Amino acid sequence: MYKITLVPGDGIGPEITRVARKIVDLLGVPIEWEEVPAGEEAMAKYGSPMPEELLSSISRNKICLKGPITTPIGGGYRSINVALRQHFKLYANLRPIKLYAGAPSRYSAIDLVIVRENTEDLYCGIEFQKDKEETVELIKFVEATKKRKIPLDSGISLKPNSVTASERIARFAFAYAVKNGRKKVTAVHKANILKYSDGLFLECCRRVALEFPAIVFEDRIVDNMCMQLVQKPELYDVMVMPNLYGDILSDLCAGLVGGLGVTASANIGEDIALFEAVHGSAPKYKGQNKVNPTALLLAAGLMLDYLGEQTAAEKLDKAIAEVILEGKAVTYDLKPGKTEGVVGTREMGEAIKSKIK
Ligand code: NAD
Repeated sequence: MYKITLVPGDGIGPEITRVARKIVDLLGVPIEWEEVPAGEEAMAKYGSPMPEELLSSISRNKICLKGPITTPIGGGYRSINVALRQHFKLYANLRPIKLYAGAPSRYSAIDLVIVRENTEDLYCGIEFQKDKEETVELIKFVEATKKRKIPLDSGISLKPNSVTASERIARFAFAYAVKNGRKKVTAVHKANILKYSDGLFLECCRRVALEFPAIVFEDRIVDNMCMQLVQKPELYDVMVMPNLYGDILSDLCAGLVGGLGVTASANIGEDIALFEAVHGSAPKYKGQNKVNPTALLLAAGLMLDYLGEQTAAEKLDKAIAEVILEGKAVTYDLKPGKTEGVVGTREMGEAIKSKIK
């Protein structure tokens, strides 16, 4: 029996987690769910968006399926999604990007994997607010040591890339490629401009590549990569990158295969893993039985795969693929501009359920 932490999350989270849980329960894998709040619901219940109940449940169970959590813009608390990844040292963010036949796309076949470093880079959360004493001091320090002026009315965010984290994520990407029969790993960076952060990242990738001679290694500058992915996605396979580029390219790649409704991610650490949709809490659709439950279901598939439950993972993937291909019971995002065959979250969930054999 697996004990798994289930976080309903905010906005559309509770609707899609309800559907995902019901479907996963049909796959013949014994799971006891431990449901705990995070985000707005946890704030109301415990006075904290990331309460001790949540942290202890994930520490105990080591596996978490998580609905999206809202991050207040500007003020308020920092992203709980980022904080959970940092707290549990979930250093690898794995995002398979696969085109399911029937999903709206300009392409006929896409099968990519993004491996995003999850703990540092511009997402390390170390920022210096404009006009704060420490910020002024930092500006003066930079001026004294680098002989360069930063305007005094600046805000500053740090971008650390370490050898430890860069080699670790590169090794994860290559090991993933070997295990999953992939042929190539592409490192994505901006090392031409950011010589000491991305340059170091690239150096680490090159070094790790030598340990995996059976896998082809190449690198691309991130802006060029964006264009290449739009023009010739078939040239790419596994891509490894620092945190920020991973965030942006994941959404770009989601757009290649039908949108945020069909892309999932796994956040993996040494012994804890958290699975979630790539999309956020889409607050404007909250409670409307409208959004696509597929992304969270694909996250559940990644979770089953991680647990070694490949048969169940394949069963789920097949059921999802059939429903998308038939196009008779899919959510609005999979049928842009059409009404025929468009159903709500629950109904698409029911259609997927009916395909599970
Ligand atoms: P979002 O992903 O929530 O929604 C953007 C748009 O994408 C939606 O308006 C909708 O049109 C579409 N969309 C998203 N999910 C969909 C689904 N399942 N089916 C169909 N269409 C879908 O992005 P946002 O509006 O920028 O963010 C809303 C909140 O979510 C913010 O507070 C943000 O910080 C948070 N967020 C959380 C996570 C996470 O929990 N990991 C990830 C991204 C954003």
